[in-house]
Formats: sequence, C-alpha cells, structure tokens
Amino acid sequence: MDVAAQWAGGALTIDLSAIAANYRLLSGIVARNGAKTVCGAAIKADAYGLGADRVAPVLERAGCRHFFVAHLSEGASIRDTISRDIPVFVLHGPPPGTSGDLLEAGLTPVLNSPEQLEEWRALAARRGKALPAAIQLDSGMARFGLTAETLEALADDSDSYAGIDPVLVMSHLACADVPGHPANRDQLVAFRRLSALLPRAPRSLAASSGIFLGSDWYFDLVRPGAALYGINPCPGRPGPMRPVVRLQARVIQTRSIPEGQSVGYGALFTASRPTRVALLGIGYGDGFHRSASSRGRAVLPSHPDVRLPIIGRVSMDSLAVDITDLGDIPVPPGTALDLIGPHNTLEEAAEAAGTIGYELLTDLGGRYHRSYIDVAAD
Ligand SMILES: *Cc1c(COP(=O)(O)O)cnc(C)c1O
Repeated sequence: MDVAAQWAGGALTIDLSAIAANYRLLSGIVARNGAKTVCGAAIKADAYGLGADRVAPVLERAGCRHFFVAHLSEGASIRDTISRDIPVFVLHGPPPGTSGDLLEAGLTPVLNSPEQLEEWRALAARRGKALPAAIQLDSGMARFGLTAETLEALADDSDSYAGIDPVLVMSHLACADVPGHPANRDQLVAFRRLSALLPRAPRSLAASSGIFLGSDWYFDLVRPGAALYGINPCPGRPGPMRPVVRLQARVIQTRSIPEGQSVGYGALFTASRPTRVALLGIGYGDGFHRSASSRGRAVLPSHPDVRLPIIGRVSMDSLAVDITDLGDIPVPPGTALDLIGPHNTLEEAAEAAGTIGYELLTDLGGRYHRSYIDVAAD
C-alpha cells in the first residue's frame, strides 16, 4: 500500500484491464453464434460499486455499444463519459412525469408497464416524432415488464405502439445461475412467444449467467454486469472471469492475548490458546458485513497458505484477525492484509458473510483509498 492509502483504513484496487478482458471474453463467446450476438454491459449501481465513470469508457473502448443503468439519475451522471450515439438504457423506465427529462438527458427508457408505455407515447405525440425505447416483457419472473395479458390486448390494436421506435425487446431470467432449473427453458419459450406480439426489434434475454446457458438464450444482445466485474457467473463451478477487485485492510496494531481472553463486542470470541491478534481498519461501516463476524478470513500476501480467521464481531471501523499461525513472521502496523485478493476470492468473502458477490461489491462504499489499474495503451 502506498502512503496515501495509509490515510484510509483500507485500499480497494480495481483492475480496469481485467474488466476489459472480461468484456472481450464474453463478447467472444456470444460472437461465436454466427457473429450475430453483441455484448452490452450493465453499469447500474455505479458499475456494481466500482465507479461507473471509470468503467464505462473502458467498456466503450473494448467495443461495448449498449449500456444499462437502473435509474434516470445514474444514466444522467454517466451519459457524458461515453459517446453520445451509444444508447444508455434506463432499466426502470421514466419515473412519472419525467419522460421529457429522460429524453433531454440523452437516455433511452426501458418501458415496463402500460403506464410507462403511455407516458412515452404522450411525449412522442408532443414532440411530433417517434421516440426510441426498449420494451421489456415479463417472461415469468414477475418483476418488471409487460405481462402476457397486456401484450395480447395491445397486439389487437395497431395503434398500441404508435410513437414508439422500438430499439430493443428484452426480458430477464430468474434462475440463470442454476443451469438445470426448468424456469430457464420456460422463460425462453415464453420470451419467444411473447416477443412475437411486439413490433420487430433486436431481442435480449441473457445477463451474465444466462450467457452460460447456451446460444439459445443469446438472441441479439446479452447484458452482463456481474461477470464483467469478476463475479463468477457459474456458481459452484470454476469460473472463466478474471478477478477485478482487491480489498486490503491495514493493520493498526497487534497484540498477544492469553488463553481465556475474549475479543471484541459481545465477547463473541474467546481464545483457546495464547493468541496473536491483528486489528484491521475495516468494518461494517466500509460495507464489510457484520455477518462475516467469526467467519471470514484474511491473507498475508507473502504467506497465502496461512489461515488468518476473522475472530469476534466485525465492528464499524475495525475487525480482529487471529495471526497466531504466522509464528514469528513480523506483522508491523501498516501491513496490508487481503480481505479479497488473489488467494481469497470475492465469492469466498461473500459466502463467509452469508451473501453473494453482487451484494458485497455494491456495498463496499466510498471509505477506501481507491486505485485503478488502467488498461495498457494499445
Ligand atoms: C442487473 C441486470 C442485468 C445484469 O445482471 P448480471 O447478473 O449482473 O449480469 C441485466 N439485465 C437486467 C434487467 C438487470 O436488472
């Protein structure tokens, strides 16, 4: 860790070249489908906490031409970081009364409901021209999108989509991370049937895990987020993605405690042997979940094989690690231990906290010293 990093409790290193490599890997996989399918990117939630303003331009340079955010505000804040002619889709559509703002901001809505459809049609009528939009249909997840009943009713009226220039028809899979789940095939069949009720447009069904279900799920565009950021899209199997995030915590002090001494809030951990403890400057206030108390582990990068379990409660600003098994290896204040790194994966850290990589990443927050590994100029 450099000196500036010592000012913070921990350091988050984000490898932009790994994000670009992950994008190219996924693009390559779906392009094998007769070179028909292209790869977009979900950059909602600040690119899963990694900094959408840094991530989006890297993805554009890697070839990405379709971006997805959840909210109008997210779209507005990153619009200027990528070329104006590349669409930024707002997954939640226009909030009531804001369709003019969304258009002015240079964003493209995903229309999910009859109300949003009507809102966009009314704006098009006021502007006197058709306006581009994606249309989402519900293929069985019952989250966002027009239902089968709505689509069937709208299909009977040739004016239903007047004023809307459909640039994408999309839906989302509920169980893509479980390849054998019957919902995947059911949603595929429903998507094929229901998308035929809409005006013709490029179609998109798969996000990260959906890409690994096979080419039936590709259609014209895939929309990964997680896999780009190093989250394994194939849980339980070795994943092909390059890790993107390293989270290091600084040792503030070490101490030796006798057998029988307890550590931290609630005296949750009691030493069963003379124990050497390192206090690290990261806690739940940094998005390192309290549920990792007595469950997660840290790694001294020079000695990755030595287990350094988190002991006791994770506090707001600190946590304790048992470093006894390092023996005589010095661990002076300022030493950086990995909480997520080459030897302890994001998935492992998330599992220890009883959650998934998605939640851990998006929670990491703004308290760390952040540095980015840039893509080498090519
Ligand atoms: C978040 C999201 C994605 C990306 O999902 P990942 O699992 O992160 O790849 C794609 N499409 C929609 C509609 C989403 O909400």
